[in-house]
Amino acid sequence: MSEYKFIVAGAGFSGAVIAERIANELNEKVLIYEKREHLGGNAYDFVNKDGIIIHKYGPHIFHTFSKKVWDYISSFTEWFEYKHRVLAKVEGKLISLPFDFKGIETLLTDKSEKIKDTLIKTYGKNKKIPIYELLNSEKEILKEFGEFVFEKIFLNYSKKQWGVNPLSLSKEVLKRVPVFIGHRDYYFDDPYYGIPNNGFTNLFQKMLNHKNIKILLKKDFKDDFKIKDNKVLFKGKKFEGIIVYTGEIDYLFDRKFGKLPYRSLKFEFEDYDLKEFQPVAVVNYPGKERFTRITEYKHFLNQKVKKTTISKEYPGEYTPQKKNFNIPYYPILNKENKKIFEKYLKEANKIKNLFLVGRLAEYRYYNMDNAILRALEIFEEIKQLY
Ligand code: FAD
Ligand code: UDP
Repeated sequence: MSEYKFIVAGAGFSGAVIAERIANELNEKVLIYEKREHLGGNAYDFVNKDGIIIHKYGPHIFHTFSKKVWDYISSFTEWFEYKHRVLAKVEGKLISLPFDFKGIETLLTDKSEKIKDTLIKTYGKNKKIPIYELLNSEKEILKEFGEFVFEKIFLNYSKKQWGVNPLSLSKEVLKRVPVFIGHRDYYFDDPYYGIPNNGFTNLFQKMLNHKNIKILLKKDFKDDFKIKDNKVLFKGKKFEGIIVYTGEIDYLFDRKFGKLPYRSLKFEFEDYDLKEFQPVAVVNYPGKERFTRITEYKHFLNQKVKKTTISKEYPGEYTPQKKNFNIPYYPILNKENKKIFEKYLKEANKIKNLFLVGRLAEYRYYNMDNAILRALEIFEEIKQLY
């Protein structure tokens, strides 16, 4: 048996929170396996040659409705009070997202008053309405409006992002970006919000810098551990301690029920000798361009440097063995994949000392706060067993 009673696979938010709790609250030693060369999972960031903090795996903004999560995570960082605004380039104009009354006034000039009136009468002011609800509206004017917004904002963007029409995916996906009945020019409406003022990687270092925590970087959990006959084996022998696994669930079980599909991304970074490339951190491109969005990183912490760095985000199918698209960023939420996932979950549930947490292990579209909350909940379960 390993000298550690607690093993964590993955040093993203899910794994880091649990390791931190084990080390601090239980005062037990914990060993983390992380197959990448750094901490932080997809929230990892670094300082580039111009002093700009770059989110290596795409734009990450912390936001939550949960005071519990906010209080917990705020013990490892101070926050820069950043308000996230997202624009979308539509018909050559920059429209604010979520699509709101300003978007209607800009793109649907003739009918704008009638549409706004009907929206208010139907749903009330300041409501968030998922696009599929408008598409199914019995009122012709709202249905037409829904079709317009769907085509201009959602259809192409989502086809690029997911490789399929988004209406074939779980409603959870499009619900993330509703239509807003009123004027609003910010993306998230969570009460707790911000960017760690020294970046996400610094936050992870603060969480994990503890005498009880050892981290093995560039080391796959499966190099040492294996699942066989409903048991976890460590170098061939039954492991009696606790395993927290935050990687892909299908990979853990050698993909024996088939591959769980994910979407991946390729980021093309470009440096410019410009003070500013675009007016906000994120501009979405729901048109013909092959990329989905451009992120300009200096906006996140309002960094006053002479140069700027942007990334263009190209989605593609996750293929682990390829040079590009080899990171599983997004679970593809549909009925078929849920069925495959449930087969794996059933197998996992047979192993009492195995805990699955996070976006990959639970095949869920978690934001960072969801992953943290889930990790805190699973830690409570671990405590029961301990
Ligand atoms: P991950 O961050 O994926 O971490 C899992 C870790 O496990 C990885 O480091 C991986 O290398 C490691 N691992 C996997 N398998 C093994 C193994 N076998 N052995 C060892 N290590 C292993 N959320 C927000 O709240 N706000 C945002 O603005 C936001 N923007 C996002 C933008 C993009 C482009 C993406 C892709 C996600 C975004 N998210 C955002 C979601 C956020 O990234 C996730 O919620 C969060 O990363 C989940 O943490 P996790 O630990 O579950 O997974
Ligand atoms: N979406 C879209 N157009 C946009 C923004 C979002 O079609 O301009 C859809 C798309 O399917 C996307 C989903 O809404 O995957 C969720 O968007 P979100 O901004 O939450 O995506 P994330 O930041 O998680 O990539």
